[in-house]
Amino acid sequence: MSAIQENTLTKTENQSAALIEIQNLKKYFPIKQGILKKTVGNVKAVDDVTFSIRKGETFGLVGESGSGKSTLGRTMLRLHEPTAGKVIFEGQDLLPLSAPELRKIRREMQIIFQDPFGSLNPRFTIGEVIGEMFKVHNIASGKEKDEKVCQLLELVGIDPNRRHFYPHEFSGGQRQRVGIARAIALNPKFILADEAVSALDVSVQAQVINLLKELQEKLDLTYLFIAHGLNVVRYISNRVGVMYLGSLVEVAETDELFNHPAHPYTQALISTNPIPNPYKRNTQIILKGEIPSPANPPSGCKFHTRCPLATERCKVEIPPLKEVAPGHQAACHFPL
Ligand code: ADP
Ligand code: MG
Repeated sequence: MSAIQENTLTKTENQSAALIEIQNLKKYFPIKQGILKKTVGNVKAVDDVTFSIRKGETFGLVGESGSGKSTLGRTMLRLHEPTAGKVIFEGQDLLPLSAPELRKIRREMQIIFQDPFGSLNPRFTIGEVIGEMFKVHNIASGKEKDEKVCQLLELVGIDPNRRHFYPHEFSGGQRQRVGIARAIALNPKFILADEAVSALDVSVQAQVINLLKELQEKLDLTYLFIAHGLNVVRYISNRVGVMYLGSLVEVAETDELFNHPAHPYTQALISTNPIPNPYKRNTQIILKGEIPSPANPPSGCKFHTRCPLATERCKVEIPPLKEVAPGHQAACHFPL
């Protein structure tokens, strides 16, 4: 076999290889009370989550506000110390790493935040904000740094001549482009986009998402794309995971998840999503009651208090995330 053939083979095999594996990850926030700040309980923001993100894919994460999406993303990057579990990035467990080792790996894992304005220092020009990335990591300075900044701005569709402008002189969509330029500056392999387009107008959302898609191709990026809006997640993701009260309740390829949701929660979530086509009617499944507190989640299946199909078994037995169709997993005793 020639070297070229061998190379192609490894490339194909690697396409489905995991870039990040999350195993039984938990993040509990202690609830403290009284002057002695005694721990009286825990907010179980992420509660035993296991899944993996493949190289080159966009993994979308959806779920109601407070379901633990951001905490999961941040704990994966060790921006929160996990309570338990493993995060394996390119075969390496991140949790035992020392601070300097972690710093090196952090270059490979970047974040794009929700609020582009809030995440850009208003007293620095956008050129300075992006250039800072090269300075901090001793990659380039002076003229070389300036050239790199210009290249990045061009890549995200902003005129490099505007690098001396301040964040407030840009529109929301342009600021998010600057946020993206900063995130890709160090050539990362993985980007966590946490509600990255949620604050933007729908038409601007589409432009920024298309930019993210384009950059993914060009730069071989892998994304974890968090959003509460199902339509954007459906558009950008290869696979989607659904969270409810700190648990991952369903994972599938995007079309499979939207066309054949197996978990009653996913079905309800999709049924209440406004669909762009007004002629296509769908029946809304209105869930009863409020989302329970993650400090005191229901026993058994956490969704049983709101589930239209719950039985006695659901009140006592935790359903594991298991395969219901090839590549499609759901945590339900009675998948649809
Ligand atoms: P989502 O991103 O899905 O809206 P979050 O991950 O932000 O959800 O929050 C999950 C739960 O964890 C919520 O109940 C939230 O109040 C709680 N939480 C998040 N961050 C913290 C924190 N730093 N300290 C205490 N509780 C937190
Ligand atoms: Mg969030």
